[in-house]
Amino acid sequence: MEIKLEDLKVLFSKEQIENKVHETAQILNDFYKGEEVIAVCALKGAVVFAVDLVRHLNMPLKMEFIRLSSYGSSTQSSGKVNAVDIKLPDLNGKNVLIIEDIVDTGLTAKFLIDFINMNFHVKSLKFCSFLDKKVARKVDVHPDYYCFEVDDKFVVGYGLDYDGNFRNLPFIGYKK
Ligand code: 5GP
Repeated sequence: MEIKLEDLKVLFSKEQIENKVHETAQILNDFYKGEEVIAVCALKGAVVFAVDLVRHLNMPLKMEFIRLSSYGSSTQSSGKVNAVDIKLPDLNGKNVLIIEDIVDTGLTAKFLIDFINMNFHVKSLKFCSFLDKKVARKVDVHPDYYCFEVDDKFVVGYGLDYDGNFRNLPFIGYKK
């Protein structure tokens, strides 16, 4: 498959995204009520969402970044997750908020949740994904918070790539 910019149809516009990210941040602000949060951003896809989201969060917050890879081909999950770079500080007793771009099969989310629970006794662990592709789920894992649900199409933009491209698009698009 090849994807060109002119082939893309907008699924969620810049304005829709801005509103939804703001709304999601308010829900998180209400939940944490000023308690300190360690936000763990999964690179590379979640970086755009994470930097937008955290600017609306009003509690004391630290950001950590980890890097995982799961996609075998450009558009199909390989069914396994590789931990490429997962150095984290001591998360014992902390409120940990994982920030992801999309939960697809759920394997990456499950890997991350299990990894944190196996290595730390956190105060709370919540999973916030920009997109939730519920229909593609292979393991029983669900984001605590998400901005939009998508059906089973390959989407790009707002951090999500196709062969490294399109992460900078301010909207979410898919091939027409
Ligand atoms: P999962 O482990 O849930 O199958 O997939 C997680 C990762 O696969 C996401 O973090 C994302 O990087 C990638 N992915 C899954 N679905 C899509 C999609 O529709 N578009 C893009 N660009 N990446 C996706």
